[in-house]
This record gives sequence, structure tokens and C-alpha cells, in this order.
Amino acid sequence: MTLGRVLHLPTHPVPQRNEAEASSRWQDVAACLGMDPEIFFPQTHGNDYAHARVACNSCTVRGPCLNDAVDKQDYSAFRAGLTPVELKAFGRRKRAAQRGGPSTCR
Ligand code: SF4
Repeated sequence: MTLGRVLHLPTHPVPQRNEAEASSRWQDVAACLGMDPEIFFPQTHGNDYAHARVACNSCTVRGPCLNDAVDKQDYSAFRAGLTPVELKAFGRRKRAAQRGGPSTCR
């Protein structure tokens, strides 16, 4: 089990509307809450992330999810509508922009 599997994908049932409104944790209102985590991980042979894309496209917390992935440098799974490769590239560009330098290494 990778660290990413433990950290970001909710595994408990989707909260009811009142519970979601009362929650201050973005994970508690994630569209992937309670979904099979395997659809977000590349280890599944031939995973094209089709089901993960559907979840992320309907998710209202993509921003916090993306920030969490970049902050933790957790690029092990499909998150916030991005593949692990896309996430890693986004994170590299964001960190380079924060440093004020180029986004590529030479
Ligand atoms: S953006 Fe995708 S991976 Fe992130 S919380 Fe929402 S559904 Fe889950």
C-alpha cells in the first residue's frame, strides 16, 4: 500500500447534505468519497482513468485536492483531473514559479 492510498482517498460513506455543509474538511465532500481507490491508481493494468475523470469532473473540491497533492508531492494517483505525470509536471511548474525560476531542469 502506498502512502497516497492512505492519505487522500476517502473510504467512508458519502455524507448526507447536512453533514457535508457542516464539514470543514474538503475530503468529506469529495466526489470520490467511498469509491474504489483502484480507479485512481496506475497499477491497474490498462487504467485510462476514465472513471476517475468522471469523478473529478463532478468534484467541487478539485482546487484543495490539487493543492494537497502538490504540497505533499503526492503524485502516485490520478487526482484533481490530472494523471500522475500531469500532476508531477504541474507541481514542478508551481514550485519553479514560487522560486521565480524556470520550470525545467538543465
Ligand atoms: S478532485 Fe478527484 S481525486 Fe480529488 S477529491 Fe475530487 S474526486 Fe477525489
